Amino acid sequence: MNFDLTEDQLAFREAARAFAEKAMAPHAAKWDAEHVFPVEVIREAGEMGFCGIYTPEAQGGMGLSRLDTSVIVEELAAACPSTAAYITIHNMATWMVAQFSNADIQQQIAPKMASGEWLGSYCLTEPGAGSDAGNLRTKATRDGDSYVLNGSKVFISGAGATQMLVVMARTGEPGSGPKGISAFVVPADSDGIHYGKAEEKMGWNSQPTRQITFENVRVPANNRLGEEGQGFMIAMKGLDGGRLNIATCSMGGAQAALLRARNYMHEREQFGQALAGFQALQFKLADMATNLVAARQMVRLAAYRLDQGDAEATLHCAMAKRFATDACFEVCNEALQLHGGYGYIREYPLERYVRDLRVHQILEGTNEIMRLIVARRLLEPGVAEAIQ
Ligand SMILES: Cc1cc2nc3c(=O)[nH]c(=O)nc-3n(C[C@H](O)[C@H](O)[C@H](O)COP(=O)(O)OP(=O)(O)OC[C@H]3O[C@@H](n4cnc5c(N)ncnc54)[C@H](O)[C@@H]3O)c2cc1C
Repeated sequence: MNFDLTEDQLAFREAARAFAEKAMAPHAAKWDAEHVFPVEVIREAGEMGFCGIYTPEAQGGMGLSRLDTSVIVEELAAACPSTAAYITIHNMATWMVAQFSNADIQQQIAPKMASGEWLGSYCLTEPGAGSDAGNLRTKATRDGDSYVLNGSKVFISGAGATQMLVVMARTGEPGSGPKGISAFVVPADSDGIHYGKAEEKMGWNSQPTRQITFENVRVPANNRLGEEGQGFMIAMKGLDGGRLNIATCSMGGAQAALLRARNYMHEREQFGQALAGFQALQFKLADMATNLVAARQMVRLAAYRLDQGDAEATLHCAMAKRFATDACFEVCNEALQLHGGYGYIREYPLERYVRDLRVHQILEGTNEIMRLIVARRLLEPGVAEAIQ
């Protein structure tokens, strides 16, 4: 078993780090404070290939593995967890379009998303269907060669500033559950789409989050992803990778916070010595690094399982997302604590990392829902043995 990154992965990491340090890190605090969605920088990331990292090359992506993706995303997130997280949501939407659309859409839409020319949003959550997304109510009614969408979505990342929406809607009867859901790629400026106000949030301020209402929105049947009734499966397949990406964004934030904390322990003196001399703080730093490395190894293992098409990949992705987002949030919080009062003020980035990472425990399935996924699967015969 070889845990070393390959030469290619080291090169991707260098390229992502150089880009993030130049184009993202110097501006992240301003984007957060002024609520700027840095579309031009995201498009520059697209020029580097980072808007279609695991989208197949045939549709304009880089065609890389989920493990390669995690190596790249960690570097972007170390500079700005919020912007990196939006880039990962865009990657997820792009992959879904490239993977599940018909040949026309694969040619017309997927390459423009993979290049970052068109940005995407993933529209699953509704006011009455969050964790229980299988009971969503947005309706897609077939009418000749098109579907007509009615309903609303909440908490949609990037909404109002993106060009393509991947929308999960009910084509089956009310109460038909997950099997009555289909997925569509919908131009974001279609007639009948209305956007709510940008939500005021604790973090993730470098990307807008809005409600979307669909009022008799006509979508060509050609824009359906997969077959009728496959939409929930497609949404969940997107989320396997999405959860690894969000977990990776937490790792990037935690790695940056750990380095800041280590540096500060050498610089700051109290009681006539550097903080680094206090064993209580040394132990804190040791635990932070230990938990971060554990999180990274879990995420990379889950990414490897997903790349291999392992039967338990979903379970591994859920475990990794739960563990990494919890552990890395604590790393950032402890790094803030190590900075004392300075950790709490905006001159230092620690409070921003804490605010940005908090939502990773909530979205793309809350960490309670991750436990539900893991527990349900583990109670099946043979699964507890299969994770060995
Ligand atoms: C900033 C932000 C960006 C987002 N971006 C997107 C996006 O781009 N696209 C999108 O579709 N969605 C997005 N979301 C929505 C997000 O995925 C949901 O908020 C999340 O899935 C939880 O749904 P909910 O808020 O309705 O909470 P609820 O489902 O109402 O849950 C409330 C609480 O109950 C717990 N709970 C619920 N059911 C159970 C259960 N069975 N067992 C134990 N505990 C349970 C939950 O874990 C949670 O703690 C975003 C959310 C935020 C805050």
